[in-house]
Amino acid sequence: MIATEELELTCIQCPMGCPLVVTMVGGQVVSVSGNTCPRGKAYGEQEATHPVRVVTSFVEVEDDIHPIPCKSSQPVLREHVADVLDAIRAARAKAPVALGEVLVANAGGTGVDVIATKARG
Ligand code: SF4
Repeated sequence: MIATEELELTCIQCPMGCPLVVTMVGGQVVSVSGNTCPRGKAYGEQEATHPVRVVTSFVEVEDDIHPIPCKSSQPVLREHVADVLDAIRAARAKAPVALGEVLVANAGGTGVDVIATKARG
């Protein structure tokens, strides 16, 4: 017998926060309901099968007590978020830092860079 599963989510693609129900059969998405627009359908499908997150954190800066805010340059598969955070913790930036500058290349071997979200003189 093939398992049927319903996943209840809140779409976070815009402030409306539509309640979604993703129906899966045998691990495959067969329907998404509750969405008001196609972005919600795409979000529900992705969240149910390959959830991703943009990672935000801070990188320590050499000779500066204030770390610099950063984020992943693109969403990371949720199972790799800890690897990216480990790479961020191990990194040290050196001022000056430009907005958008790559602070950690290929963070945690994910192929995703970590970039500065603020400049530092
Ligand atoms: S389904 Fe569309 S309208 Fe609803 S929260 Fe998602 S993006 Fe916004």
